[in-house]
Amino acid sequence: MNIRIGNGYDVHRLQTGRKLILGGVDIPHTKGLLGHSDADALTHAIMDAMLGALSLGDIGLYFPPSDPKWAGADSQVLLAQVNQLIGEKGWQIGNIDSVVIAEQPKLKPHIQTMRDRLSTTLHIQPDQIGIKATTHEKLGPLGREEGIAAHAVVLLQMQLTK
Ligand code: MG
Repeated sequence: MNIRIGNGYDVHRLQTGRKLILGGVDIPHTKGLLGHSDADALTHAIMDAMLGALSLGDIGLYFPPSDPKWAGADSQVLLAQVNQLIGEKGWQIGNIDSVVIAEQPKLKPHIQTMRDRLSTTLHIQPDQIGIKATTHEKLGPLGREEGIAAHAVVLLQMQLTK
């Protein structure tokens, strides 16, 4: 089989006094995501989807929150490491599709910047990365702006041998 598919999900709590980082982009907002690393839920969902596609476990296995090494980590650095891992196993990204669920702030003005940032980290083209944003219609914890969640699906394809 020369294609594999994976899915990933992540959610982080919103808290004042934290930066809001999504897709590697610092987004102006009154609150940011709380976590051991920079708490970039979108990037974490993509990493889990990449690992899941090859049945390699999840990001907690590679970057445990108990390890002080990852405190405040830039998730783009972690994403690059996961990308290197799948590359070493002979795979490359076909495409990524994702959804970010955030009641606030409006993410539309930042989506192209996120695609550019993620594509740079992953050495792929921005048109291989889909990012959609939706609200949670004010329902539940996400709807009350208590957190931001992200879903991602990644298609991997076997690298072409030269
Ligand atoms: Mg996370």
